[in-house]
Amino acid sequence: RPVVWRSADGRVERATYSDLRDAAGRISNSLRAHNIGLGDRVATLAFNSFDHLACWYGIMGIGATCHTLNPRLHADQLRYIVNHASDRFIFVDAALASLVIDLLPDCPTIEKVVVLGDEGVAPTFETLSEFTAGCQSDCVWGGFGEETAAGLCYTSGTTGDPKGVLYSHRSNYLHTLHTIAPDAFALSCLDVILPVVPMFHANTWGLAFSAPFVGSKLVLPGPMLDGRSLHELIESEGVTFSAGVPTVWQGYVDHLAAEGVTSTSLRRVVVGGSACPEILMDAFEALGVEVLHAWGMTELSPVGLVASPKPEIADLPPEARKKWRLKQGRPIGIDISIVDDSGKPMMHDGEAAGKLMVRGPAVAERYLGHDESALTGDGWFDTGDVAIIDQLGYVRITDRAKDIIKSGGEWISSVDIENIVMSHPEVAQAAVVAIPHGTWGERPKLYVQLRRIDGNPPPDLKAFLIGKIAKWWMPDEVEIIDSIPLGATGKVDKKALRGSA
Ligand code: AMP
Repeated sequence: RPVVWRSADGRVERATYSDLRDAAGRISNSLRAHNIGLGDRVATLAFNSFDHLACWYGIMGIGATCHTLNPRLHADQLRYIVNHASDRFIFVDAALASLVIDLLPDCPTIEKVVVLGDEGVAPTFETLSEFTAGCQSDCVWGGFGEETAAGLCYTSGTTGDPKGVLYSHRSNYLHTLHTIAPDAFALSCLDVILPVVPMFHANTWGLAFSAPFVGSKLVLPGPMLDGRSLHELIESEGVTFSAGVPTVWQGYVDHLAAEGVTSTSLRRVVVGGSACPEILMDAFEALGVEVLHAWGMTELSPVGLVASPKPEIADLPPEARKKWRLKQGRPIGIDISIVDDSGKPMMHDGEAAGKLMVRGPAVAERYLGHDESALTGDGWFDTGDVAIIDQLGYVRITDRAKDIIKSGGEWISSVDIENIVMSHPEVAQAAVVAIPHGTWGERPKLYVQLRRIDGNPPPDLKAFLIGKIAKWWMPDEVEIIDSIPLGATGKVDKKALRGSA
């Protein structure tokens, strides 16, 4: 089956899985020749491409750990992460090499930088072809225990330093089986899979393993994730399945609407990483594309919930079915529970909201280098999300615990208000954050980015919310800003907004 990718200059290039295996084998052999082996950390700083994928397999196959670095992180965070992981080598896209040049003086563990693509960017950096010159492609992989670390990804917490999550060969394998299943992503060799989610965001949501596992054609988008580039690639390669965060998908459906075009091949799209707005689901439905809303975390490998239909829901009329499809989903390879502040389990009655706890074979046990376990005594991981579980086992995330607004002792869901505001046709992005209040403790403030500035007066969003939310949920302030800040994985950066509130 083909592996297709878009290079940094926009060209679409193609090879096969067999070529990928050969390229990965050459990388493994060169790494071994450079004395990299079991347990050594090798970083990548790259967009989704053939070379990047070859590095993943080449590194993991010999028992070294592939550490994905996110180029959108602040230089201080990258520096911290590389040093914390003691990365020995870095494979970097030519276009991102300047980030590594800046890091090198403060990252003494790095012995070698290898540039992906054929351009040499600095005389001391080898290109990938120089690095693998003369290396055989035949390479025996494995020969180590299944608990050996395969991947490493840091999650940037809201407070404190980023925390490292190791994925083992075992957890990746089990996560692959969970996610390809019919009630999860339902992947098969008949699919053409486009991982829009970057390989540096939470283990590519497993797609770097699940696509090769089922033997689907694989299409890698490189750095170009704007609506036009995605549309061209989806149409030219016949992509049937893709996955990404809502902000990227919004750009795609906006492009299709602006151009008056549709997608001829796309069938299923996973929307996750933050809540799928109803307006996005509607836009995809109008194109005949099924949205699978999914929830996960770096710590979960990362998929935990997928909103695939159960029989009770599959037969409902579309509008009634949407109510469930907009929830974050039902468990995939995990046990779930909600608990109150004292840790007592709460009812799965569609009303009680509590801390979402999860447990499973692809859930991290502790963060890298931490002495203490990240789990409770009986093996549960606190996700930091607040959720409601209904009688059918579907979960609705009402907030991050840290984003929830506590007004007069009662909770206001920022996510619910944002979803309603984003259904307004003139709103491109919305974010609700807590602002301190003398009487109520906290009150909601709504930030909005509008779709177009064409001289029209801004819409009255408070009036729009009347009747759609409880009166006491009404934001005290509405501020229209040029752009809502996004974090390193394309999610709204509420920390930055709170800082400016
Ligand atoms: P990360 O580890 O960066 O992928 O972030 C994980 C967090 O993203 C979760 O704990 C949730 O707060 C949030 N998240 C992921 N998927 C969703 C979703 N579908 N709806 C709402 N929040 C989500």
